Amino acid sequence: GLADRLQATMQKIRGKGKVTESDVKEMMREVRLALLEADVNFKVVKQFIKKVSERAVGQEVMKSLTPGQQVIKVVKEELTELMGGEQSQIAVAKKPPTVIMMSGLQGAGKTTFTGKLANLLRKKYNRNPLLVAADIYRPAAIKQLETLGKQLSLPVFSLGDQVSPVEIARQAIEKAKEEHHDYVLIDTAGRLHIDDQLMDELKEIKEVAKPDEIFLVVDAMTGQDAVNVAQSFNEQLEISGVVLTKLDGDTRGGAALSIRAVTNKPIKFIGTGEKMDALEPFHPERMASRILGMGDMLTLIEKAQASVDEDKAKELEKKFRTASFTLDDFLEQLSQVKNMGPLDELLKMMPGANKIKGMNNLQVDEKQIGHVEAIIRSMTTKEKLEPEIINASRRRRIAKGSGTTVQEVNRLLKQFEEMKKMMKQMTGMQGKGKKKGFKF
Ligand code: GDP
Ligand code: MG
Repeated sequence: GLADRLQATMQKIRGKGKVTESDVKEMMREVRLALLEADVNFKVVKQFIKKVSERAVGQEVMKSLTPGQQVIKVVKEELTELMGGEQSQIAVAKKPPTVIMMSGLQGAGKTTFTGKLANLLRKKYNRNPLLVAADIYRPAAIKQLETLGKQLSLPVFSLGDQVSPVEIARQAIEKAKEEHHDYVLIDTAGRLHIDDQLMDELKEIKEVAKPDEIFLVVDAMTGQDAVNVAQSFNEQLEISGVVLTKLDGDTRGGAALSIRAVTNKPIKFIGTGEKMDALEPFHPERMASRILGMGDMLTLIEKAQASVDEDKAKELEKKFRTASFTLDDFLEQLSQVKNMGPLDELLKMMPGANKIKGMNNLQVDEKQIGHVEAIIRSMTTKEKLEPEIINASRRRRIAKGSGTTVQEVNRLLKQFEEMKKMMKQMTGMQGKGKKKGFKF
């Protein structure tokens, strides 16, 4: 992820008061690579880097964030902004039925999305959609939609594969009016590549059906290709929104950014699976995190900022450096981070933490925090300062006193030991004599 990439630069500028132009340049190189790796179109990347650089240079470094974190924050904010606001609302025609037309290449997920959208319209909005099978070319395409309809208990309009898609669309809308369907969802054919015949047919359907919404369905895994596809569909059909499918895989989702930049049309939904309920509204912020490959790092950083007392954090930092961190400190820290979220995740978010061996074994189950507190409180002062002296009989006593088990006491002591080791490694990484440590 980007956070890893920025590691080196982040180390260098630790403790500076301002982010300088050359710092930013260096970091932007990494950001650029991260975006390209996530399949964002290079032209889009170029524009983006320019914008972010302008914003990042000369910024005051916030007390609570390292300069590197701060640059990531700017990058993420700009990415979020670029991808537009949250726009998952669906068009409503003044006079029903509202007609929605699908478009996209073969295999992008149009038919699946047609089912998902119908399902959403009925379940969430209490609507009565009619699904229309207008892909007469792909063998079994009609059957596929009919199967989905059956599964969802929703009607599917079909005239077989001998009637033109345009005529199917026309008759479907007639029928929807007669039978009071408030939505008509037209599933269309795709091709493996964009061609004139496909576009002409879609244009004809558009002409006749006068859709209130034209969705372009794009497979997120197609990466760079998605940009060209989106551009030509938008030029020829004037789409109203984009659906990005197959985001349940490990694709980084850079296509989202490119498509938005190239078409200037909102991404409205994302598909996250083959099942009918695997449809989510598009969240620009989540997608930005995904593109940057950093999970919800910033959310965590921000949470941490809000709940950790600055002075206490400084004090802890000092203890980390001198490795004089005791179980009492551990307890103190636990109470600070308790309401911040999953502790093991937080630990992993710390700059450099992913470089530390044993980090993955260090699991701190939130639910266990209460037990951990009880265990530490059951220790004597001497035990807390010198956990080495806690032998078998002391462990039994502590377990009894805290209402836990000897195993839990053992586990805690082992975790504490690992944490101390980790701190030693981390403070070693900061460079000798450097004052800065890491922060939650
Ligand atoms: P169409 O040719 O555009 O109509 O595409 P289909 O709807 O037939 O989908 C092609 C394949 O992609 C099918 O196997 C779908 O189950 C699958 N698919 C569609 N959307 C998603 C998604 O969001 N996630 C995953 N994993 N598979 C999807
Ligand atoms: Mg299909």
